[in-house]
Amino acid sequence: MSETINAFQMAQRQFDGVAKQLNLDPQVSEILRMPLREFKFQIPVRMDDGSIRSFTGYRVQHNDARGPHKGGIRFHPSETLDTVRALAMWMTWKCSVADIPLGGGKGGVPVDSATLSISEKERLCRGWVQQMWKNIGPRNDVPAPDVGTTPQMMGWMMDEYSKLVGHYTPGVITGKPLGGGGSLGRTEATGYGAIYTVREAMKHLKMDPTKCVAAMQGFGNVTQYASIGFKEILGGKVACVSCWDNQDKTSYTYSHKDGVDPKFLQSITDQYGTINKDKARAAGYVIEDGDAWITKEADVLMPGALEGQVNAETIKKMSSRVKIVAEGANGPTTPEADDFFKKNNIFNIPDFLANAGGVTCSYFESVQNDMNYYWTKAEVLERLDTKMTQAFHSVLEMSESEKVYMRDAAYMVAIARVVKAMELRGWI
Ligand code: NAD
Repeated sequence: MSETINAFQMAQRQFDGVAKQLNLDPQVSEILRMPLREFKFQIPVRMDDGSIRSFTGYRVQHNDARGPHKGGIRFHPSETLDTVRALAMWMTWKCSVADIPLGGGKGGVPVDSATLSISEKERLCRGWVQQMWKNIGPRNDVPAPDVGTTPQMMGWMMDEYSKLVGHYTPGVITGKPLGGGGSLGRTEATGYGAIYTVREAMKHLKMDPTKCVAAMQGFGNVTQYASIGFKEILGGKVACVSCWDNQDKTSYTYSHKDGVDPKFLQSITDQYGTINKDKARAAGYVIEDGDAWITKEADVLMPGALEGQVNAETIKKMSSRVKIVAEGANGPTTPEADDFFKKNNIFNIPDFLANAGGVTCSYFESVQNDMNYYWTKAEVLERLDTKMTQAFHSVLEMSESEKVYMRDAAYMVAIARVVKAMELRGWI
């Protein structure tokens, strides 16, 4: 994201606006606009060449009134304490809007995973847990994967925690690999969850999904399954996806005149989300610059990569056909872009509602870990659909009854539930 957009200031600005609308007691706002706890630590890692490199680690615990802190660990070169704070705050709202009994947290390490060998990654993951294990746990704070971290890394982290506490503790971390305490359906959960909300929005707006086109940014976990879901669950067409190219250190948009085939693109994508350009061209794909995704003739836009991508500059290039912006990524839309959506009657499915499928399935994973009994993929996805549909409609209802924009309605639902839990626990 650009240097001028500070994710935490943006998260606070969004919160402050809604706190005012909710007439929230300023003393309560003061608690909620800052994290309850923050950790910053050094992780010394022995590199393969024998040298020692010290990485910075973060964990921010925003609020646990409704249950243990929950949130991913992101490995990304531009990670900062403020990004982690913003993401932790959004996790509180996300768990609350999805109505799962968890609070908000987030972690990170400023690093480009692609520059580390597998064994260096493993030592970095174990090192992160060695610094944090006393402050995480199934009843305390449960991390998960995010940008740049994988199920395998969660497996290593769970193993390190289990060694340190002296007993197998799968519920300390979610997004673990299948066979290592993971849940079926977790890989698809965020992308499919977003598509369930798009389906409900289309019903509300009386749009026929089979006649609709989507343009998506990103082609990682979220957008791969959102694009598959848009095609296979809704019967729509995906005009393009846009993603980062690790070799060229720039982003590209991949489109196809018949709509992209996400499963084919998946088959030519490496583990860091870089699409093989030669194979894509050979299959008839047009490759343009990374920002071209937002200019496509589409009914639905899904920014599913990083923060701040839909902003005052990029919205100038948006097609007037766009009716729905479904935020797969966290914090992809700046307040200026929000104002534009409000003025132009563009229906917004805010990030912490649209992408709540991941954390909802993570919650299902910890429930299954606790029961030591595992559901089928169909059972997981059915429960996910039920939760996402309920979450969407509770926000839509609030939006209609209070005559507010969907993002504000989602905040109102989420904040009211957190405040209620704080009251019930006697915090306020
Ligand atoms: P990922 O690492 O799997 O994929 C990220 C994608 O973004 C990659 O395809 C990468 O190429 C692309 N990208 C990076 N920089 C780009 C740029 N400048 N232009 C275009 N594309 C770019 O990550 P993910 O898990 O898919 O997460 C994406 C977003 O969704 C993040 O904001 C994350 O916090 C959020 N999210 C993820 C989950 C989840 O379960 N994975 C859940 C909730 C929210």
